[in-house]
Amino acid sequence: MSDVVVVGAGPAGSATALLLARAGIDVTIVERAQFPRRKVCGEYLNGGAVDALDRLGVLDAVRGRAHALRGVRLVPEGAPPVVLPFPRPALACAREGLDALLLDAALAAGATLERARVDDLIRDGARCVGVRVRTDDGTLADRHARVVVGADGSGSVVARKLGLTARSKRGRYAVGGHYRGFGTLDGCVEMYVGGGAYFAINPLDAERANVMVVVPKERLARWSADVDAGMGGAAAALGRGARSFAEASRVGARVSVGPLAHAVRAPVAPGAVLVGDAAGFLDPFTGQGVFLALIGAERAAAAILAAFETPMRASQAYAGYARWRTADLAWRRRLCRSVALLIDVSPLARRAASRLARFPGAGTTLLEALAGAIPPERAFRLDVLGRLLA
Ligand SMILES: Cc1cc2nc3c(=O)[nH]c(=O)nc-3n(C[C@H](O)[C@H](O)[C@H](O)COP(=O)(O)OP(=O)(O)OC[C@H]3O[C@@H](n4cnc5c(N)ncnc54)[C@H](O)[C@@H]3O)c2cc1C
Repeated sequence: MSDVVVVGAGPAGSATALLLARAGIDVTIVERAQFPRRKVCGEYLNGGAVDALDRLGVLDAVRGRAHALRGVRLVPEGAPPVVLPFPRPALACAREGLDALLLDAALAAGATLERARVDDLIRDGARCVGVRVRTDDGTLADRHARVVVGADGSGSVVARKLGLTARSKRGRYAVGGHYRGFGTLDGCVEMYVGGGAYFAINPLDAERANVMVVVPKERLARWSADVDAGMGGAAAALGRGARSFAEASRVGARVSVGPLAHAVRAPVAPGAVLVGDAAGFLDPFTGQGVFLALIGAERAAAAILAAFETPMRASQAYAGYARWRTADLAWRRRLCRSVALLIDVSPLARRAASRLARFPGAGTTLLEALAGAIPPERAFRLDVLGRLLA
C-alpha cells in the first residue's frame, strides 16, 4: 500500500508526485503511456507556468529544451495584426520533453512509476481506497492508497468513476502537429481567429513550429478525406495568406483531439483529489492549461500534506483546496468565454485588435490575469475587457 497513488504523469500528476515525494511521502504514479509520449497541446508555457517550474526547481532543465517567446501576434480575420508583448518570460517547449523531464524529476525525488491503465477505483463504502489497474498483458491488480490523486487529464476516468463528471458545453476539435517551412518565426505565438475557429503557430525554435487548428466538429468531419488540405484551407481563410501551409511540411505525426470540454461538480471526494485537466478543462485558446496543472499540483500537494500531518483537520484541508480550485476556475471559465467571443464574432475580434493597438495596457492586464500574476477577476474591469469588447 502506498500513501498516495497518482493517476497520470502529465504536468499535474508529476508535479504533485514530485512535491509529495520530496516531503517524504510514499507515492506511486500509474501512467498508461510509455514516455516520452506526445500530448496534443499548443506547447506554450505562460509566465505563471514558467514561475511554477522555477519553484519546482526544474526551470533550468526546461530552458535547455525550450524556446523563449516574446509575445503574441493576434491576427483577426480580415484585419491588421496586433502584437502584445508578454509582460513576463514565456516559453515554447515540446510536451514530449517537458512531461518526460517532470516525470524524471518526480522519480528522482523518490516516487515510483507503474506503467498500467487505471480501469476502476476501489472503495470502502463511500471512500476511495485505491485503484484497479490493467497492465498491457491484460492482468488486473489492485493498488491501495490512503489518497488517490486523479491527474488523468480531460475525460478523467477517476472523475467519472467518482461520479463527479458534470455536463459541459460541446467543445471544438483540435488538429495539428509540428511543421517546418513557415518562413521566419520571430518569437511570437501567432493566433489567427475568426468564424468560430482559430489557428495557432507557436515557434518551438527558429524553424520548427507547433501548429494547431481548432474548429467546430462539423468542419473537421468535412476534412476527413484530406485533413492537411483542410487545415491549410482554414489557415489561409483565417490568415488571409499571412502564413501559408503551401511551403510548410509536417515533421512527425499529425495529432487530433476533441471535443475540448470536461467539467466536474467538485474536485475532491472522500479519499480522492482531482488536479489539472481532470479537475476541469478550459478552451486552450488562452493557453493556461499547463499553468493551472502546476499550480493545482502545488495546492493539492499542500492539502494532502496538511491532511497527513493533522488527520483531524483533513476535511478542512481538502475543502480549502476544493474552494480555491472551484472559485479560480469559475473566474477563468468566465474569462475564457469572454475571450471566445473574439473567435466566434469576427467584427468583435477586429474591434478588439484595434483597441489593443490603442490601449496596450489592457492587453498587458489581460495577459497578467491569464498567467496568474494578478487575480483573473481583475480582467473584468471596464478598462480591460470592457474596453476591448464593449
Ligand atoms: C489543442 C490543445 C492545445 C493546448 N495548448 C496549450 C498551450 O499552448 N499551453 C497550455 O498551457 N496548455 C495548453 N493546452 C492544455 C494542456 O495541454 C493541458 O491543460 C495540460 O496537459 C494538463 O495537464 P494534466 O497533467 O492535467 O493532463 P495531461 O497532460 O492530459 O496528462 C494526463 C496523463 O494521464 C494519463 N492517463 C489518462 N488516463 C489514464 C488512465 N486511465 N490510467 C493511467 N494513466 C492515464 C495520460 O496518458 C497522460 O499522460 C492545450 C490543450 C489542447 C487540447
